[in-house]
Amino acid sequence: MLEASGLGVSYGSTRAVDGFDLSVDSGEAVALLGANGAGKTSTLRALSRLIDADGSLSFRGEDVTNLAPEELARRGLVHVPEGRHVFPTLTVDENLMVGETSRGKRPALFDRDAVYDLFTPLIPLRKRYGWSLSGGEQQMVAIGRALMSSPHLLMLDEPSLGLAPIVTKGVYQALGEVKSEMSMLVVEQNATVALGLCDRGYVLMSGKCVLSDSASRLENRQALLDSYLGHGIEDADGEGAPHPGAGEAGGEEVQRS
Ligand code: ATP
Repeated sequence: MLEASGLGVSYGSTRAVDGFDLSVDSGEAVALLGANGAGKTSTLRALSRLIDADGSLSFRGEDVTNLAPEELARRGLVHVPEGRHVFPTLTVDENLMVGETSRGKRPALFDRDAVYDLFTPLIPLRKRYGWSLSGGEQQMVAIGRALMSSPHLLMLDEPSLGLAPIVTKGVYQALGEVKSEMSMLVVEQNATVALGLCDRGYVLMSGKCVLSDSASRLENRQALLDSYLGHGIEDADGEGAPHPGAGEAGGEEVQRS
């Protein structure tokens, strides 16, 4: 479905993503994990061609390395950016309809009613303006709008960011229902929720992929994952978390230079 080879992103002298090989197969849900500043958002923006990047990119078997972002979106690579970007002066209904306009000739996977069935808290808010919605409601609208464009690949940037745990749970439950309909690439700092949804995951650190494995094996390597994601730096004894890669076996740990 999507294949990136040698992906690299620089901002001046900052190398945000460095030689990342990534793929998402048809029907797969893949998590992209990493701490603050690891390069996750830059990766997604490079994959949807919103920023210039090194390396090559193919989507559904075609080379799209130099394609304009709007054309890539028309072909079904749909990106829900961090911060949701709901149109503030459109109602919930109207925001959702915007998604339908970019569906092109793809058959409808989700119409408006299907989106409301998926995100029931939006039902009483159909006529409310975007600006008046809570963060969780905006996230549901942003995802619902993307679903209405019938993506082949849905890319989500930190869907849990800033949401209460109960709202995050609802959003991820909905994504679980959507999963059988399309491929997904989910950027998250919250590894637990992302790995609960996804089949496979990559871990980025300082722009490099340091670990790539099945979701179940990543979940079983919690200590290592925590060390890469910057959690558990201090344990109860005041000792540091294990050095990334120390004393762990199995999986594919990518050599760092
Ligand atoms: P977060 O979870 O905090 O959003 P991230 O993993 O998504 O982090 P990026 O936002 O991709 O990481 O940032 C990777 C690196 O690139 C960071 O060092 C960041 O400061 C830098 N960076 C990101 N965007 C820009 C920009 N527009 N100009 C300069 N540097 C940038």
